[in-house]
Amino acid sequence: MLRQFVPDLFVKSIFDIDLQALQARGIKGIVTDLDNTLVEWNAPDATPKLVQWLDRVREHGFQVCIVSNNDATRVESFAKPLGLPCIADAKKPRRGAFEQALAMIGANQHDTVMIGDQIFTDIAGGNRMGMFTILVAPISQEEWIGTRFTRKVEHVVLNLLRKKGLITWQR
Ligand SMILES: [Mg+2]
Repeated sequence: MLRQFVPDLFVKSIFDIDLQALQARGIKGIVTDLDNTLVEWNAPDATPKLVQWLDRVREHGFQVCIVSNNDATRVESFAKPLGLPCIADAKKPRRGAFEQALAMIGANQHDTVMIGDQIFTDIAGGNRMGMFTILVAPISQEEWIGTRFTRKVEHVVLNLLRKKGLITWQR
């Protein structure tokens, strides 16, 4: 029951992800959350550091797709300038958007990683799909009001996971 919320890997930020190690695992696709994973919640544009990171990701041959529960206006205006495919109103953790994303980048769940900052949407959804899952610490404390409540519950679950020895890291 609780295992669905356990990521395969936790890192502080996307910039700490070892791309070579992902390649060594046979990972070809990257499905990533947007808000508080790639940039601060609702930040309209990519930072120069993110643009550089995405270039590096593409040089490594990864196919990337943004999957966000935020609305289409926000998600598309962010993804288009970067030339990235995206899915908005994704309703994570439901399977639909994940399946759509895999089809868009021509990958399957076994060779794709899901990256995100929330265990109930990004990690639970990715795990349910059988994807490799990476949890990142949220970039900022600023969040949508609904998420602020979710964070409190998330905190409780993370403490429980730690007590049970299912995770050892601190966010
Ligand atoms: Mg997020």
